[in-house]
Amino acid sequence: VDNKINQSPDYARIVHDSIQYVWRHGVSVDTTRAERGPIAVSASGVRVTDADGTVFLDALAGGSAAATLGHARVDVADAVHAQMTKLHWVSLRTFINEPSVELARRIAGLTEAGLQTSFFVSSGSEAVESATQLAKSYHRARGNPERTKFLYRKTGYHGTSLVGASASDNKEFRTWFAPLAPGFVELDACYPYRRPAGMTEDEYGVSVADAMEATIIAEGPETIAAILAESIPAALVLVPPASYMRRLREICDRYDILWIDDEVFIGFGRTGRWFGFEHYDVTPDIVTVSKGITGGYIPLGAAIATSRVMETIFGDGATTQAKVSGHTYAAHPTACAAGLAVLDAIEKEHLLESTASVGDWMIDEFRRRYDGHPHVGDIRGKGFLIGIELVQDLATKDRFASQLSVGRRIMARAMEQQFMLRATGDVVTLFPALVTTQQDGEAMVEATCRAIDEVIDEI
Ligand code: PLP
Repeated sequence: VDNKINQSPDYARIVHDSIQYVWRHGVSVDTTRAERGPIAVSASGVRVTDADGTVFLDALAGGSAAATLGHARVDVADAVHAQMTKLHWVSLRTFINEPSVELARRIAGLTEAGLQTSFFVSSGSEAVESATQLAKSYHRARGNPERTKFLYRKTGYHGTSLVGASASDNKEFRTWFAPLAPGFVELDACYPYRRPAGMTEDEYGVSVADAMEATIIAEGPETIAAILAESIPAALVLVPPASYMRRLREICDRYDILWIDDEVFIGFGRTGRWFGFEHYDVTPDIVTVSKGITGGYIPLGAAIATSRVMETIFGDGATTQAKVSGHTYAAHPTACAAGLAVLDAIEKEHLLESTASVGDWMIDEFRRRYDGHPHVGDIRGKGFLIGIELVQDLATKDRFASQLSVGRRIMARAMEQQFMLRATGDVVTLFPALVTTQQDGEAMVEATCRAIDEVIDEI
């Protein structure tokens, strides 16, 4: 670590040039300047090293949850190199390529949910956008071309394309990108911790779904194509009660509305199962994935449709498949080869099992440590998707005044202490790589509590 100090000959110049030449989304120029980057130069496992030689413990799988196998895996790199030097890319329009066929076939076999056909893209936003196109195609093929609206939920995030932004509850997007796509209808989130007093979680789940049904009736069910909803919304770690998921599925079936389950954040193992919906007794119609499909080694995403949806869209087979367009990089052979190496690793190293056991241990340990704490309102999660909601008042669940920036201060404090966590508002979140060991998990709990406790002590 010590001799890494010279890896960046001119730290200040790189920070300056970064501000000048690279659009750094989500980070202000002032922050980049004040925090001098940091400039990542190498990484291994769950640790990232910056140009000063500082090593950060990474509870964010690289920062945005994509590095699900950890950093610098030789097996994935070897698979990528082998594919690149054999057949790096050809267009799906001209050729079938085997890595994409094999990856899609394996994805179809991961669950009993009837997922069949992958529409491969290169990012989560594209996966979401493609899923909405598949949903419209499904209804058009059934003779319902007027079904073009999409439902989405408060606090949700589905990407930055016009469709993703239109389906995301993000003030900046909704202001800066206006006008957004028409026909996107907002629903309440299912936020069990903030349910009305006196209601059980199950009663609350039913009531939120019933409100969704009321919106559907008010909008006109015959105008609605699909609901875009993560099985477990990741930003605030909103683990829903089973009653909500059951009712959501029933309502979709009743009104012939498709459920697009956005698994971009949690798909491929984050919650200790391949997909979040597997924690519930329900199956979606279309699943969107990215991030974990290649562990972030190469960009790839997909909208995966069930056989029921695909049989409808394909229709007479001869013409319909060709009508749904795709991208130049659709089913990129090299990206798909990375995806196959990632599936192999998850299976061979039993990473679903270890994610469930280490992640659930971390959740229990946070609960043990913060039992009775006056400002820790809720600790929730599944596997390596963990949220700690901080409140000003435990009894009323009132939030801290926003000008206190409690979450942001905790995130900054952790970074000063060489630890990467995230805060969305005052919900502190951890989403480490699936390869996080028990020992790493213990270090992450320790570091999280230290940052939270120090900042809360200062308020
Ligand atoms: N959907 C969800 C649930 C996400 O978490 C994200 C990204 O974080 C997206 C969609 C957008 O994916 P991308 O950033 O790859 O476009």
